[in-house]
Amino acid sequence: MGALEFGYTFFALTAIIAARYFLVAGLFHYALLSAEQPRIYAMKLSSRRPNIAAMKKEIYWSIISSFIYALPATAVLMLWQNGGTQLYTNVDEYGWVYIPFSIGLYLFLHDTYFYWTHRAMHLPHLFSFFHKVHHESRPTSPWAAFSFHPSESLVGAIFLPFLALFIPIHIGALLFILTLMTVCAVLNHSGYEVIRDSWIKKGFLGRHFITATHHNVHHENYHVNFGLYFRFWDKLMKTDLFDVNIDGQLDSIDAAK
Ligand SMILES: [Zn+2]
Ligand SMILES: [Zn+2]
Repeated sequence: MGALEFGYTFFALTAIIAARYFLVAGLFHYALLSAEQPRIYAMKLSSRRPNIAAMKKEIYWSIISSFIYALPATAVLMLWQNGGTQLYTNVDEYGWVYIPFSIGLYLFLHDTYFYWTHRAMHLPHLFSFFHKVHHESRPTSPWAAFSFHPSESLVGAIFLPFLALFIPIHIGALLFILTLMTVCAVLNHSGYEVIRDSWIKKGFLGRHFITATHHNVHHENYHVNFGLYFRFWDKLMKTDLFDVNIDGQLDSIDAAK
């Protein structure tokens, strides 16, 4: 593997990651923010509207993040060529049942890593260096999906490539996880809840998974809702807050409970 090949792969991966970000965020910007009212079913989570200058800043940080995400990904692809990872292409190697199992395992481990690194980054002496940039998004917009300081992007970027060194994963399953990550990040920062109220409030989805309603609260209240995909760690560590109204405020009835 030469430096040139590394360079090509790095820039190609950066372009793919950035293109996916612009496509998904652009799509939700069009659906939610391009007109006076959203073009799809959506419940507003903030009484404020993100301004153009804030969204430009989010795009700036997100482009830098795309470069950083591509770095460990390139290293893993290069290693893969030399047989140094657990990535595989032939489904028969571990069977079909292993595909959803590996996806679930990767999502749970990533969620665990995210929860604890996220909580650490909220410690007073780490917050301003690592995590302040992300919290400048108030209200959030779809463009905030990758809006992190490069140090936080790096903390986030290394984990999935690291897992791929030890836990077998089909290349298609890994691409699925990476795309899901982008879609969830855009949705959870969109400033709107696009999933029906009944699913969120009473359904299995809302009880166990993190959607925009849940993550929006974190951008208003720094002491709760640190998770990425699942509410598991937040519930276990008693940092879960869900009964909220617009702007992440506890409504008076729930607050009295
Ligand atoms: Zn945070
Ligand atoms: Zn966020």
